[in-house]
Amino acid sequence: MNPLGELVLVIDAGTTSTRALVFDRAGALRAMSQRPLQQHYPAPGLVEHDANEIRTAALACARQVVTQAGGADRIGALGITNQRETVVAWDKRTGDPLARAIVWQDRRTAPHCRALREAGHEAAVQAKTGLVIDPYFSATKMAWMLEHDAAVRGAAEAGRLAFGTVESWLLACLTGGTHLTDATNASRTSLLPLEASRWDEGLCDLFGVPRTALGEVCDSMGLVATTLPDLLGGAIPITGLAGDQQAATIGQACLSPGETKATYGTGAFVLANMGKEPPRSGHRLLATVLTQFEGQRTYALEGAVFVAGSLLQWLRDSLGVIDAAPDSERLARSVPDNGGVVIVPALSGLGAPHWKPEARASFTGLSFATGRAHIARAALEAMAMQTRDLAEAFAADGARWTTLRIDGGMSANDWMAQDLADVLAVTVERPHNIETTALGAAMLAAAGAGLHPSLAVAAEAMRGDVERFEPQMTDDVRDLRLAQWREALRTT
Ligand code: ADP
Repeated sequence: MNPLGELVLVIDAGTTSTRALVFDRAGALRAMSQRPLQQHYPAPGLVEHDANEIRTAALACARQVVTQAGGADRIGALGITNQRETVVAWDKRTGDPLARAIVWQDRRTAPHCRALREAGHEAAVQAKTGLVIDPYFSATKMAWMLEHDAAVRGAAEAGRLAFGTVESWLLACLTGGTHLTDATNASRTSLLPLEASRWDEGLCDLFGVPRTALGEVCDSMGLVATTLPDLLGGAIPITGLAGDQQAATIGQACLSPGETKATYGTGAFVLANMGKEPPRSGHRLLATVLTQFEGQRTYALEGAVFVAGSLLQWLRDSLGVIDAAPDSERLARSVPDNGGVVIVPALSGLGAPHWKPEARASFTGLSFATGRAHIARAALEAMAMQTRDLAEAFAADGARWTTLRIDGGMSANDWMAQDLADVLAVTVERPHNIETTALGAAMLAAAGAGLHPSLAVAAEAMRGDVERFEPQMTDDVRDLRLAQWREALRTT
């Protein structure tokens, strides 16, 4: 077999860092390079990135790993995965950014969103796009730039404005200006109906975004474009694109309806594959595009928990209860139970399925017998309890989990993985390679370039081994935990 061109390059443009990785066809990591991404906080609630910094870092990291892997001739496919919803505005003629990118976490458009909700638009927007109206999504960020930034407005008036999410920006950078956006990222803007192949005029008008500033929606798998030969030492086909959570879902091989993954990082994101029909949530979960290939889509149902690993960071940095996040495991094992302590970690409100932005965290059941081990254990237990609330919402929307595939930094915690299996009463699977986001982009790119005959074959070949955690908890203990949690939630 010809060994040339069989490696897959991935650019992973995340929220806090930009990385490039090279995988082989079996999913083994051959090279990796990473640069931190500076966060700009101009005022409370505002979060910005410098799109030029993302471009420079992506190219520098990509060049480095391509060289390490033996040169561009060895690379048969490029996949891009990215922080979702973040908006870049650039000048189509010069290819340069017009303003700082507005990051997904940014809350500046809350008043615009409130006005749209109060005017009664939410039900129609949700029916069309699968999304609630929230500053999280891209459309109101675009409208904000047009209203407040003279350079963005001027470019729009001159017909030179390009808006895009981060994969769209990188695609333009890598190709010398091709303006496309993949369907998974486009489905996070509030401007793309779940079933339509194009942007919706009515939604563009409602949010105040000119359609001419948006790139065409493209597949997330298959030949989308080719990199300029000079940039990486040779022309490389771009054959896989996906937002980070969709990429992680692919990376966990959740390719059949019902298969579900949960990523435990700073927050937790759960996505369930829902197959070819767009899901409709009756429980305030989000519906989103999971993949698009030759115009055909698959969909996912999505729920997010705002506080996961950040609870342990807060216990470490603000309270000094633990020295490091992994210590929570030893502490949790050192006591037979939570000693009655329950933490509801609503430090920044409660996400799905509660959606209570004004809720605040609580510690209940403290006594003089409470030690820091009980607090650490209650913190880890809160992950399973929050996930259980999501599981009930998913089940009510028709997606009952049979197993849960976990990843993210916090999934390294064996005690938490076992507690998830116990409280959810399902098998929990953890891959040895928890870098599922980059791996998912590599699977898409490999299948898209024909290095594997299909996404299913790519996933099978590249996923690697998994470890399983089986439920062991008795019903009595589980019922007690659930009763404690519900009582604590009620008083939060
Ligand atoms: P992100 O991608 O959101 O930056 P990561 O996936 O890198 O997050 O995960 C980092 C988070 O995981 C941190 O919040 C940290 O507190 C938590 N974490 C890391 N290791 C452990 C562990 N062994 N036990 C519990 N939490 C952990």
